[in-house]
Amino acid sequence: MANITRLDQSTINQIAAGEVIDRPASVVKELMENAIDAGATAVTAEIREGGISFIRVTDNGRGIEGEDVPLAFLRHTTSKIRSAEDLLTVKSLGFRGEALSSIAAVAQVELITKTAGSLTGFRYVIEGGEEKKLEEVGTPEGTTIIVRNLFYHTPARKKFLKSAATEGSYISELVQRIALSHPEISVRLIVNNQTRLHTAGNHNLKDIIYAIYGKEVTRELLPAQGGLFCGSLSGYIGKASVSKGNRTWENYFINGRYIKSSLISRALEEAYQGILMQHRYPFCVLHLSVDPACIDVNVHPSKMEIRFQQGEQLYRELVEQLKGVLRGGEMIPSFTVGPEEKPKKPEALPARAPEPFERRRLEQERQAAFPPEKKEAEGRQAQPALIPQAAEAAAYVLDHTPVAGEVRQQELFEEKIVQKNRLDDYQIIGQLFQTYWLIQFQDNLLIIDQHAAHEKVLYEKLAREFRERTVMSQQMNPPAVLTLSPGEEALVKEYGELLKEAGFELEPFGGSEYAVYAMPVDLYQTDSQKLLREIIDGLGEMKGSRESELIFSQIALRSCKSAVKGNQAISKREMEALLAQLLELENPYTCPHGRPVIIRMTRYELEKKFKRVIS
Ligand code: ADP
Ligand code: MG
Repeated sequence: MANITRLDQSTINQIAAGEVIDRPASVVKELMENAIDAGATAVTAEIREGGISFIRVTDNGRGIEGEDVPLAFLRHTTSKIRSAEDLLTVKSLGFRGEALSSIAAVAQVELITKTAGSLTGFRYVIEGGEEKKLEEVGTPEGTTIIVRNLFYHTPARKKFLKSAATEGSYISELVQRIALSHPEISVRLIVNNQTRLHTAGNHNLKDIIYAIYGKEVTRELLPAQGGLFCGSLSGYIGKASVSKGNRTWENYFINGRYIKSSLISRALEEAYQGILMQHRYPFCVLHLSVDPACIDVNVHPSKMEIRFQQGEQLYRELVEQLKGVLRGGEMIPSFTVGPEEKPKKPEALPARAPEPFERRRLEQERQAAFPPEKKEAEGRQAQPALIPQAAEAAAYVLDHTPVAGEVRQQELFEEKIVQKNRLDDYQIIGQLFQTYWLIQFQDNLLIIDQHAAHEKVLYEKLAREFRERTVMSQQMNPPAVLTLSPGEEALVKEYGELLKEAGFELEPFGGSEYAVYAMPVDLYQTDSQKLLREIIDGLGEMKGSRESELIFSQIALRSCKSAVKGNQAISKREMEALLAQLLELENPYTCPHGRPVIIRMTRYELEKKFKRVIS
């Protein structure tokens, strides 16, 4: 046997690198995750020859300080954790400090970076783990990393790579998932000089789904949103018409990370039981936001394994929520007053002898609320359960389900809670606590938060008018005067044109003062100075983005927030007008800041509370 010798550092690095970097897609993954961890709002990945000869990832994140640049390329150097304990709370995507060193060990790497605080940027070249150059250069804030000729001096590794087209397709899929997992980040992929994907970073998940999966899929989506015992759920699931023969359309993310989980896949498929044929799998893009205390993450560098504590409960809640979405497609959270009673034995039927049809309905509702396993669950408090019903979806199920039977028939008689052109059927009962409106609609008590409703209506109106350049301005007489900091002034200059298109006219007024000559009519009544400060703060968060759509929605968001105040008594007539506008919206259920606008209680729930029905 040969003598034992210590491997040199470069060999050790190469072996270690193999764990992290096995193909171009893993390079792109690590670099893009670093960009996201660095707070970037825009990330571009560019590849040639499937990423084998060229990968460039550019971000507008916080950059790396000059003295830290060589450090970042050493093994186990990271700015994200300091000790093993931090592993429990880490929120960033990477934290092992292995990616850059591994990539540099097996390729030719060039890094160009600049932080906001420093005057110049830095360019660093490292090849096969050997430092070649560190120099000062002029460059915008953020980081660009170029990786050339992956595995150039390890031909054995290179042999394991597939064709450029296949490697490129892995990268495309990866970048798509990154875009889907971060709707707040503008993600761009350029393949052989052609842009393949470019998302706006405007928080709109549906836009991203459209960009990736196209019109056919996007048309057939149902929004899903709701609470889980350990967090919350949001995203979209497909109707039965967009199924696939394998699981590649099942996308789910936990706390911003794409994962594979048999538990979630099983829950998803269970929810589609009876809707999809055998061996067909659904479409979904679901974001689960979960308390980190509820998951065990195995921090293997390339695989993401997650185990859930109380996995059974998560499974049941997911099935219940998703079934609700499929049945109804509406998102009004139901609520429960006081603790839920213990479910009664199955034989106990409503005391008021119902019609056979009614009996089935009640029986089914009870079963949906208390599946057999849950019988012992005490005090199960109001999860915003998504069990609404809609005639449209039910009809769809009837049409497309091979097992459609009379059980399902009743769903046809159930109706949507929010319906356009039916204002007369909504009976406004009155206002509660000067904030909430009680409304009767068919067999439902709806409660609308006037503040949230008003915000939503105003937001949609402003965003549309900004977008279509149809906003009406009102001259201010006398003009309001604002004193701006240099940073604020820079923003007003940078976004002046767009502000003007949105109906705000600001002109320099000497020194650091600006005069506000005009405001959008709808905002005329608000405190203009306060509002403009809010808006300028919002622009500050855009990090130089030029996407006008995004900027307009930010301005609308800030505007509606400061234009609407809670706790203000509004008349019934004003409420009627507001309700009419609300009913017109595509999504009247949540305000632009994500809070619910409408909650409801069914007559049945109420009768249960008063023990008029016993079930
Ligand atoms: P890790 O991400 O696990 O910390 P890496 O080797 O990927 O390890 O990166 C090392 C360090 O380099 C990071 O902790 C971070 O401080 C810095 N870094 C890497 N990429 C970027 C980037 N795009 N922008 C800013 N800092 C970065
Ligand atoms: Mg990293």
